[in-house]
Amino acid sequence: MDEGFCRGAGRLMPPSNPQDPAAELPLGTTCLPQLLTGQAIGETASCSMCDSKLDLGDVVFAYACRRVNRSHWTVRRLYCWGCCPSRIESGTLSITEAIVSGRVGTRTDPTARETKLCLTELVVRDYSPPDHK
Ligand SMILES: [Zn+2]
Repeated sequence: MDEGFCRGAGRLMPPSNPQDPAAELPLGTTCLPQLLTGQAIGETASCSMCDSKLDLGDVVFAYACRRVNRSHWTVRRLYCWGCCPSRIESGTLSITEAIVSGRVGTRTDPTARETKLCLTELVVRDYSPPDHK
């Protein structure tokens, strides 16, 4: 149900061709910012390394990963400007990994009526395909 392609965040554009099975698309660097834009990162966010607070509008880096055969990306770690690794150090078999950078934005969940921090203005910094060894 929540595995839909380009779904799960309020401001995402629909996929250009909804007939395509999402998992079969080459998930390189093209769709990833779109997939992760609007991804909620909680009511507050802080750097995984130095624990400094990430506020609205701050530059943020995120490590995200996706298992093979899943269309859903998970943001695992957030970093501040100073702490982000510039590259993915060791790729993981069967998991696609990426480091993106952007800014902290907000989204409002219409059902819960909560405003949460989310990722916006994303650019892919590094990318590791699932067959990386
Ligand atoms: Zn930090």
